[in-house]
Amino acid sequence: MKKVLVLGAGQLARMMDLAGSPLNMDVKAFDVRTNKVVHPVAPEHIYGNLAEGIAEAEVITAEFEHVAHDILEQCEQSNKLKPTSQAIKIGGDRRLEKALLRECNVANAKHYVIETREDFEQALTELTLPIIFKSALEGYDGKGQWRMKSTEQADEIWQDMADFIAQANSSVPQGIVAEQMVPFDREVSLVGARNTHGEIEVYPLTENHHAGGILSVSVAAPVEQELQIQAASVFKALTEKLNYVGVLAIEFFQVGDQLLVNEIAPRVHNSGHWTQQGADTCQFENHLRAICGLPLGSTKLVRPTAMVNILGEDSVPNEALALPSLSIHWYDKEKRAGRKMGHLNLCGNDEQELAQRLNQLAAILPTEAFPDLASFAAKYQ
Ligand code: ATP
Ligand code: MG
Ligand code: MG
Repeated sequence: MKKVLVLGAGQLARMMDLAGSPLNMDVKAFDVRTNKVVHPVAPEHIYGNLAEGIAEAEVITAEFEHVAHDILEQCEQSNKLKPTSQAIKIGGDRRLEKALLRECNVANAKHYVIETREDFEQALTELTLPIIFKSALEGYDGKGQWRMKSTEQADEIWQDMADFIAQANSSVPQGIVAEQMVPFDREVSLVGARNTHGEIEVYPLTENHHAGGILSVSVAAPVEQELQIQAASVFKALTEKLNYVGVLAIEFFQVGDQLLVNEIAPRVHNSGHWTQQGADTCQFENHLRAICGLPLGSTKLVRPTAMVNILGEDSVPNEALALPSLSIHWYDKEKRAGRKMGHLNLCGNDEQELAQRLNQLAAILPTEAFPDLASFAAKYQ
């Protein structure tokens, strides 16, 4: 049995474990909140502390990019960490991420790094409104972001950003990245894997819809070849630069036929959950294959698939489960407003059938919990 330790004990570690079992992999998770190594599916089973977890593991990986740097260093020293701590840190710091994009000559939104009020004022002259300000560290699900439409908001936003930074508990200096708002046509992401032998496989581009800064629906269907090639070349450039091993996700804004990188995630990604039912090999299995030096599995789209996040709900009507080609994945988390509690994967034999089923699903699910699904499904038809 190959022993894998995941830094982080959330749903991504859980789904890695579920995908790893048939491969005869023993996946354990390090819960950064309790400092204990636990079973990813049954966290009441505790196996010890981080040092013990590191000693036992053959490979160590991470399910999120905001891992404390001392933990990353400790893992790196064991020579078992994949991807490297450098890659994980880049994904967790928008300043490093932008520097990587520049080094690799990858198109992204015009931006400006801010540390002082003078920098802030300068950003307002360098960029044109609307501007989005993002905390360099610790941002996820749209948290730590401020949108400015008018310079009248300047004092208020500056104060809010200062408060956010003051509350952050980080040993790394905090900063803000000011970014030009991109008038995108749509948001897409590319999830792919690179293994220890440098082999790369990428999934088809996935279209993503956010509600309030949180991913709500992802759809994978056949994509325009030109766009796929553009995205795949960005994936190759970034992963080769980092000598990256594992699954990496790249979020893009599509403007016309051009892709601008929004951000990267050095891990399995929510916009890749559809692969559990819609691809030959799911992203969790491919991540494990990549970090364990195995050949990658095919990333081919088997059938058009939509993934719908279940936010803040711990049940859905049984009627939804009765829909053909619908799968549900619960994370066994305590219910909290807006929290990612699980997701639904819905497939169709073609896009038309998927659209039909999405509309059926939207009619079954409660509107309060899935406010945008009906309008999304209606447009998709
Ligand atoms: P995630 O949960 O994906 O890690 P995050 O908190 O890191 O989210 P971003 O992905 O940077 O945040 O931004 C969240 C969403 O806000 C984007 O998916 C997009 O819809 C919108 N957004 C972010 N930056 C821009 C921009 N420069 N122009 C237009 N929209 C943007
Ligand atoms: Mg992010
Ligand atoms: Mg994002």
